[in-house]
Amino acid sequence: MKCSIVVIGDELLIGQVTDTNSAWIARHLAPVGWWVQCVKVVADDYEEIRRAIDEALAHTNVVFTTGGLGPTKDDMTKQALCDYFGGEMRYDEDTAANVLEIVHKRGLKLNEYTRLQAMVPSSCRVIQNQVGTAPIMWFEKNNKVLVSLPGVPHETETMMEREVIPQLLSRFNSEEDIEHRTFIVIDYIESALAMKLDDFEKSLPEYLHLAYLPEPGIMRLRLSGASRDSHRLHTDMDRFSQKLHEILGEAIICDDDKTLSVIIGEMLKQHGLTVSSAESCTGGNIAHVITQVAGSSEYFTGAIVSYSNEVKEHLLGVFNADIMEHGVVSQPVVEQMVEGVSRQLNTDCAVSTSGIAGPGGAVPGKPVGTVWMAAKCKGVVVSQCLHLPGSRNRVINRATTEALKMLYKLLRELK
Ligand code: ATP
Ligand code: MG
Repeated sequence: MKCSIVVIGDELLIGQVTDTNSAWIARHLAPVGWWVQCVKVVADDYEEIRRAIDEALAHTNVVFTTGGLGPTKDDMTKQALCDYFGGEMRYDEDTAANVLEIVHKRGLKLNEYTRLQAMVPSSCRVIQNQVGTAPIMWFEKNNKVLVSLPGVPHETETMMEREVIPQLLSRFNSEEDIEHRTFIVIDYIESALAMKLDDFEKSLPEYLHLAYLPEPGIMRLRLSGASRDSHRLHTDMDRFSQKLHEILGEAIICDDDKTLSVIIGEMLKQHGLTVSSAESCTGGNIAHVITQVAGSSEYFTGAIVSYSNEVKEHLLGVFNADIMEHGVVSQPVVEQMVEGVSRQLNTDCAVSTSGIAGPGGAVPGKPVGTVWMAAKCKGVVVSQCLHLPGSRNRVINRATTEALKMLYKLLRELK
């Protein structure tokens, strides 16, 4: 099914708010085999909205709009949709009751603005918003569908998942089977991976596709296919997944769309091990990433954010003489940090970082982006120095990923 998305809002065009709605919608349509052909960002402007929905409906079967539904004067979407599909604005009792319920649940009082949410175009069918006051509106014209959703990401995501996607699937009754497999790959940059997989890609049947989804320090590869012959689809997906494993070997660290911290968490649980972190330049980001996984308390005991030399020395037992001789961004320091934190927090495994995230702080021989990191697992300690490119944020995020990759490799060695 061909889809397009029109995201509406002045704030998106001046860069005040980043559009996450279109990415979320596209990501959740792909698994059911619905492909987004085009995303357009438009202003809260009556003519712009009309032009965008007209163009979108001309070349795709399903159009999603988000934003501009509110009762404030800058929100123009409803009126534009009403005029486009014909009819007039009407007061909808069910929507009014829903708005009242939501407003009461939030402990607020109904005012003139919230009451106006119940005004909807007569040409649409309303799907009641279970988590907000802006109604979701379903329009049909010439066997094409337009669904208008709120701007608030949480409302759009919840209602897409609960109502809109299921209703669209039953409306269009897709007969194709869809399959996706995601592989998490390390040790390759995108261009090197593309070269390595050149022959593989050429050997794929026309109905299978390989997508590269790079993130700093890690790559997601997604093999997708859609076919009416589900047996053939399944057999081919198995065959080509196997082939990918043969080509990439240990570089594939997971056959599922999981984050590195989830993968590491599962390995730690499997071996009954615990982990902690000693962080200088990552400032607690490793702990943050690890604890984003529900249930991480089973294996993560804590972190020591040792930003100053004093904390490195007093809490982690780093030798002042080594800091003086080798500098604080150095191999002996990160190795003593990883030993120190695993001793202090009583864990089997640990990771540590010390680096120059920038923009200032470079010293001769150690430019911005220089990061030493170490990982420890059951008595084995490894360390490395990387020169990471980009802004302060990118250096911190990349150092986090690289330190966790070191730990992953140590855990992989355990039998
Ligand atoms: P409501 O009546 O509930 O406010 P609405 O449809 O009028 O719904 P907007 O006023 O357009 O929503 O936007 C509500 C909030 O959602 C704003 O904070 C806005 O910045 C944010 N938002 C709007 N569109 C997007 C988008 N595409 N991606 C991320 N955030 C968005
Ligand atoms: Mg808006």
